[in-house]
This record gives sequence, structure tokens and C-alpha cells, in this order.
Amino acid sequence: MQRWNGWGDDNIYLALPARGLRILRDLIGAGQGRPDFPLEKFIERIPKSRLAPHPLISFDPKLRLDHAHGQSLPDWIRLRGGTLQRFPDGVARPTTLEEIQDLLRFTVRNNIVVIPYGGGTSVVGHLEVPDSRRPVLSLSLERFNRLIGLNSDSRLAAFEAGIRGPRLEQQLNSRGFTLGHYPQSFDYSSLGGWVVTRSSGQQSSHYGRIEQLFAGGDVLTPRGSLNLPSFPASAAGPDLRQILLGSEGRMGVLTKVVVKIAALPEKDDVYGVFFPSWESAIQSVQTIAGTDISFSMMRLSNPAETMTNLAMAGNERQTAFLARYLRLRGISEQKACMCLVGFTGSRRLAAAARRAAFSIIRRYKGIYVGKPMGNAWKKNRFQAAYLRNTLWDLGYAADTLETAITWDKVTAAMKAIEKSLREAIKPDDEQIHVFSHLSHVYPSGSSIYTTFLFRLAETPDKTLETWKRLKRAASQTIVAAGGTISHQHGVGKDHKKYMAAEKGAIGIQALEKMFNHFDPEQRMNPGKLLP
Ligand SMILES: Cc1cc2nc3c(=O)[nH]c(=O)nc-3n(C[C@H](O)[C@H](O)[C@H](O)COP(=O)(O)OP(=O)(O)OC[C@H]3O[C@@H](n4cnc5c(N)ncnc54)[C@H](O)[C@@H]3O)c2cc1C
Repeated sequence: MQRWNGWGDDNIYLALPARGLRILRDLIGAGQGRPDFPLEKFIERIPKSRLAPHPLISFDPKLRLDHAHGQSLPDWIRLRGGTLQRFPDGVARPTTLEEIQDLLRFTVRNNIVVIPYGGGTSVVGHLEVPDSRRPVLSLSLERFNRLIGLNSDSRLAAFEAGIRGPRLEQQLNSRGFTLGHYPQSFDYSSLGGWVVTRSSGQQSSHYGRIEQLFAGGDVLTPRGSLNLPSFPASAAGPDLRQILLGSEGRMGVLTKVVVKIAALPEKDDVYGVFFPSWESAIQSVQTIAGTDISFSMMRLSNPAETMTNLAMAGNERQTAFLARYLRLRGISEQKACMCLVGFTGSRRLAAAARRAAFSIIRRYKGIYVGKPMGNAWKKNRFQAAYLRNTLWDLGYAADTLETAITWDKVTAAMKAIEKSLREAIKPDDEQIHVFSHLSHVYPSGSSIYTTFLFRLAETPDKTLETWKRLKRAASQTIVAAGGTISHQHGVGKDHKKYMAAEKGAIGIQALEKMFNHFDPEQRMNPGKLLP
């Protein structure tokens, strides 16, 4: 069963290895677990619904609670600390297009705000319920989740938008295909959610980000229905698909999604490499990214993340052995940078790409440590998210932020973001543990993905205050450094005030006018995306 106040399946628990806990205690002090606000008390708090009855809308309090948040740290603080105050007035989980149409007509007739809900995995406040005089309906696509059709000649597959990662891959794999889109939230996030948040999968260097995989679909907007055809290419003016991508529920409900699919690969391997320093590592990664070598992923951790990953890996004997081996090869534990490099595709092309990449890696003194590290990553790629639950129970908050920036600025921006977080925690007289990796690399630059951990305060409000200060400091640093406010998580509520910095005043006005055109009464997820 899905956990009501944390990440994932209730039955999965990921222990924090003893060495990991020791390091955390040394770096930021002993955490103190805070009692969870009980479910029963939340249920008592859910107010009477303002919605008129409708056969497809449920007023069940638990369902309304479950659809009142996503998975951002502020969502967690409010949920686990009991300060969450706003809930949708009802939740609909339609199973057919006709039901969705019927529900949207009902919302127009009754002046109801609609929040489309995919998998609920947003980490930037996309699903926060607005403080609105109008009633709010959460329209969950969870049960709208079938394969509509697959055209193997054109390599296109059409799905109902609510389908989630595992079911989607199962449908495609059984027919010899894959979408190859694997965000870490894969188990719960939905195809429609991926499209409207411009999501990026872990192997997007091979398969493409969702923008490249999205071929077309249907959107029900308050002004009417919009079909986005799946032409292989078109010079017929601006591409309306680009407007839907990243629209975050503001334009309407994405109902049908057509995606480009690929044949299941013969090879899909990930290898572990260690570099003696950040400088040699980033030069190697940047060089490979600038060639035509076809890699599926390159994920480069800085020394702080490398140390943390090894501490969290669990097997102390194996990591001690690895550290000894690296020392023998001239790599110190303090400076080591771990890199995971993946190759996907036909046997022949994957082998050629691997050979070419490794010749560059060797030039920059990278040491290959074999496939087991890559295999372990593949096995646990969606499980690591469960550590957030464990850390919280031990009294630590964990959050991530991300950007993308050109190569000339990557190292300086990464250091500035980390420094801004260390500075921002100081007024609390607390410590923070910060580390980063480059998660997606491109010829022109890279994403930077930073994780930070700090101790929970005595009250949820105080923890939230600290988080706000940290988030503000890091976001301002990202903007000042010349990075985008998001490489993959989207905008939602938490990033909207930084949008003007990258879109400009005219750009923001254009977006506002466009969303107002599709949604003149601003009933679709208002208050998100735009400042
Ligand atoms: C542990 C964890 C790991 C993550 N890893 C990644 C990652 O690797 N890469 C990445 O890109 N993101 C990642 N995310 C963020 C999140 O999973 C993505 O933003 C994802 O695309 C959200 O999809 P969802 O279906 O859960 O959407 P939701 O959270 O339900 O909704 C997000 C937004 O999309 C809108 N929406 C959803 N479905 C529709 C629809 N059918 N029509 C119109 N609007 C809709 C909602 O209104 C909302 O504004 C992660 C999140 C978590 C919690």
C-alpha cells in the first residue's frame, strides 16, 4: 500500500548503514525524530466540502488528504508535522474520456477550480491547494491508464495520460519496445505528469528527455479540445506541443499522449569509474559530452557526494577494499569523484561507444572499477528515494535542487550553490551537509543536482522557515550564476518567482496571455508556474 505521509510503498524500508549515520552525526549532529501527526487527526480536520454532489466525485476525507500535496519537502513538513491546512473539496478518478469531459463541464457550470493530478510526485508545490473562494476539485488521472494503440511501423504508442512508469514499460516491453524514460520517481509518476513538467529520465542521453519523446496527444482545455498531431516533423509555424510541455496543468487536462518508442536494447550497461580530482573528472565528462560518442548516462559526483554515497552503500568491508584499491592507484578518498557511465543500444554500437569513452576517461586518469557498481546502481535506482523516509525518522530533512548551465560556469555555480546553503543555515546555529552531482550532460553544458541535509527543528514551522531560507539562497544563487531555475523538476509554486529572470517581462506576459486564452476563467491549477 502507498504510504500516506512519506515516499512509496509502506512495506519498503531502507536502513541507513551505521557508517552513514556516524558521518551524519559527525557532520551535522545527532538528529531527533519528531512525532508524526496522526492520520485520524487529519481526517477530523478535513472541512466540509463546498462541492455539489456528482456521481464521479468522492468526498472521502482520506482521499482528499492524499490529493492535497505532492512530495516536496514543504509538503512533507506540513504533512508529517500536521500543519497542512488546505484540501481539495473533492477528488474524481475518472476511467473514460467521456467521464473527464463530463467532469470538466460540471466544473465550468459550477465555477470550480481544477487541479489535474498524475502520480502526485511533484517536488516543487505543483499540487498545493490554493486559498480560493471557489471550490477545488482534484482530477486524478490514476485510473485513466490504458494503452490506446501501438504503431510499430511508425514507432509510436498512444496511452491514456494517467499511466504510470511500471505499467507503461510493461505494456511496451511485452511487445518488444521501450520508452526508456526513467525518472527516479518512475514507480509512481505518470506519463501525463512527465510531459507537462518537462521531466528528464536517468538515461535521457540515449532515449531523450520527455520533450524529445512526446510526439503529440489530446488536451481538454476550458476553451475546447486541442489535438496535437504526431507529425514526424513540420515547418507549419510554431509547434503547439512546445506550449503544452511544461504547462503544469495550467492549460487543461492532457488526456491522450503519443510517444516515440524504441526497440528494446540488446545492451544496457552502466560502469563505475573513479577520478583522482574534480578537475580531471569534469574535463573527461565534458570532453565525452562534446564528441559523438553515444552514451546513455554520465553521472558525476563531486568528492562530498562520492564520500556520502560510499558511506550510504552499506557494505563497509567492500568500501574499505575499494578505498585501498583506489589509494594504490593514486586516488585519495578525500578527492575521489565517482562517475557512472552507461551505454545502451545494439551490442556493436554500445561496445564501440564504451571503447571510445574509456580511452578519454583513461586520458584523464579515470580508473575503471567494473560493472558491479553500475549493476548495484541499476538495481537500486528507484529505491534510493526511500532513504528520505529513514532520514526523516532519524530527525533529518533531505531535499534536492537542480539547475542546468553552460560548461564554462558549471564548477563555479556548483560551488556557489553549495556555499549559499552553508551560509543560509548559519542563523540557526546549525550545520548542513551538502553535496552535488552532474546528472545529465550535454555538449553545451550540464545539469547540477544538489542534495542537502539538515536537522529537523523542534517545530514544523521552524523547519519550514529554515527550508525557505535555504531554498531562497540557493535559488537566488542559481539565477545570479546564469542557470535555469529548473532542469527537470519544473516550476510549480516554489520556483515561480524566479521565472521572470529567465523568461523576461514580455515572455511572462506572453505566457500569461496564452494560458488565459485556453483558460479565460483561470480555473486550471491557478497560482502555479507564473509569478
Ligand atoms: C523521489 C522522487 C524522484 C524524482 N525524480 C525525478 C527525476 O529523476 N526526473 C524528473 O524529471 N523528475 C523527478 N521527480 C519529480 C516528479 O516525479 C516529476 O516532476 C514528474 O514528472 C511528476 O509527474 P506526476 O505524474 O507525479 O505529476 P503530479 O505530481 O501529479 O503533477 C505535477 C504537475 O503536472 C500536472 N499534471 C499531471 N498530470 C496531468 C495531466 N494529465 N494533464 C494536465 N496536467 C497534469 C499537475 O496538475 C501538476 O501541476 C522526482 C520526484 C520524486 C518524489
